[in-house]
Order: sequence, then C-alpha cells, then structure tokens
Amino acid sequence: PNTGARELAGDGLFARVHVGDRPAYLKALSDTAIDGAPRRIEIRVRKGASQPGEAGQAAHAWMELNCRAGADGQVVSVLRDIDGEKHLATERDLARTEAAAAHDARSRFLATVSHELRTPLNGIIGFSKLLQMSQLAERAEKNVDLIHKSGKHLLDLINDMLDLSRIESGSISLSFASVNINELLHEIINLVDHMANERQISLCLDNMVDKKREWKADHKRLRQILWNLASNGIKYNRTGGNLTFRAETQDEKWLRISVIDTGLGIPKSKMHRLFSPFDRLDMECEQAEIVGTGLGLPMSKSLVEAMGGKISVESEEGKGSSFIIEFDLTAEMAYPEQTLKKSP
Ligand code: ADP
Repeated sequence: PNTGARELAGDGLFARVHVGDRPAYLKALSDTAIDGAPRRIEIRVRKGASQPGEAGQAAHAWMELNCRAGADGQVVSVLRDIDGEKHLATERDLARTEAAAAHDARSRFLATVSHELRTPLNGIIGFSKLLQMSQLAERAEKNVDLIHKSGKHLLDLINDMLDLSRIESGSISLSFASVNINELLHEIINLVDHMANERQISLCLDNMVDKKREWKADHKRLRQILWNLASNGIKYNRTGGNLTFRAETQDEKWLRISVIDTGLGIPKSKMHRLFSPFDRLDMECEQAEIVGTGLGLPMSKSLVEAMGGKISVESEEGKGSSFIIEFDLTAEMAYPEQTLKKSP
C-alpha cells in the first residue's frame, strides 16, 4: 500500500523537500495510499532542481501539496506554488502585530501622561486655590493667581491633548442615547453664563425645533462640542456682544445647530488653518490676553465626524462668525442604541 509514497519519494522531489517537512510529506502520501482519502498540506520545496536559492533569496518556496488516490491505486500528488500568498499573509500578520503594538504603546503612553502629569498638577491647582482663600499681601495674591491660572491652563492643555489623541487613535467610545436638543442648549447656556457675564455678552436661544423632540446622539460629547464652540464665541467676541444658539431641522432630514457670535471674525486668508491642531491663527501674538490651546476646534471636528456629522464655519472679519454642526437624520437609524466604539 505504500507504493505511491515510495515512488514519489524516489522521484527527486523528496530530495528537494525541506528536511523539516519531509516527515509530513511522506505521511501525507502514505496515509492517502492507505485510506484513499485526499489530503492537503503545505511544505517547503527547494527552488530549482538542485541549486540553492540565490544570495539574499530564500532557498525554499512554499508549496501546497494535494494528494489523492488515482484510478490505478497510485497516489496522485499535485503541487501548487503558494509562496507569494504565504509571504503576503506573513506581511499582513506582521503589519497587524505592529499596529496592535503601536496602539498598545499609545494607550500606555496616554495612561502614563494622564496620571503622571495630572496628579502633580491637581496638587498645584488645589493648593494655589487654598492659598487664594487665605490672607495674602497684594503682590503675593497676584503671584498665586498666576500660579493658579497657569496650572489650570496646563491641565486644559493636557486634557485636550489626551482627548484628541484618544479620538485620533480610535480609542474613544461613543454612547448614543436620546438627547433633547432644547434641554442641551439650556444646559450649555447655564454652563457659559458666568463667562458671558464677565464680558457682558448676551446669550440668546433661537430654537426652531420641537422642544420635546429627541435625537440619538452622545450627550456628553455633543455637550463638549457645543461648550467648545460657545466658549470660543465668548472669548473671541467683543465686550457687550451677542452669542446666539440656533437649532433648526428640515423635514426630519437634518438637524443643524449654529453658534453665532458678533466678535472678531476670521480673516479669509486664515480660514484654511482652522481646525489644525495647535494653530491659534496668530491669536497668541495679536491678542495674547485671550488664552487657548488651539485644540478645541480640531477636537470638536473629530468628535462631530465620529458621530457622523459635519462642521462648517461662516465668518466675516470684524463682524463675527457662525460655527455650524449638522447631522444627517436619515442616517440616524444606522447608529446602535447603546455604544458605538470606533475600531482601532
Ligand atoms: P483656542 O481657542 O484654544 O485657541 P480653538 O481650536 O478652539 O483653540 O480655536 C483655534 C483658533 O481659531 C483660535 O485660537 C482663534 O484664533 C480661532 N477661533 C476659534 N473660534 C473663533 C471665533 N468664534 N471667532 C474668531 N476666531 C475664532
């Protein structure tokens, strides 16, 4: 019953099969010769009849060996070159492993930064707050204020960088649930009310959607986006200006929320730089007293897009700007009820 195996072993191919694959090769042939069942194995076969592979090239190529019983009781074996496929698969596996390792390293880095930088900073902010509450000489009071402000600025920067990094690496999870836009806009107005008062800016709500209507969105993230746009609308406004929140929808096709200010506006020549991380459009030189990190808009854009929406801006220098976020409601049903996690 082993004839087929023995014959093939003697046809010259056996000598070219990689030593490590010879037992499997002989076993496949003899098993098929015994029970007649077809078999498929992968083996390495030396390239060319006898010469080793050229310098720098692998001497063996991967082949697929298919054995089946022939009509005359002999084992028929067919070889198929799968070297290219094997290498592609190996490269794909390697790329996947490297991407996973990079993702893990990034997550570890984020966790470390988040802990190692935020912990001491919270100490600085907390204790400077305590000092602010004690009796201090005028000069010391100013210095402590500066420590407190700088600490808070650094904390905002770290938080924004971590958020942006999480969004970009896809490790942010979105939780879609019913959100009442009217209530959310009132929540934002309450959040920025104090900031607006300081600059005598009037906040207006121009809600054109049904007050009871709810939509599926990630409440926390939508609030973060609107808070970013609203605080910009106050920071870059003129003293005594207006900030309007407008909500509109049409035939259940789209939902649009605009944050409209009467502030500095954005020069046409700088519009293309909006939404680029750390680009403050030269605000750090021209209006150094307005603090910022240059991360709010890029983060808002990434978040809006992660939720399936888009963000746009209309602006006139010296008159004001409108930041508009829009969601396609016809695609709303595509979102799962609970949690949507962007794949890494
Ligand atoms: P930040 O406000 O922390 O600097 P952002 O990413 O939110 O960062 O904004 C980037 C830049 O875009 C700002 O520095 C500012 O120059 C400009 N900008 C954003 N919002 C407005 C606005 N409502 N009016 C005028 N300029 C704006």
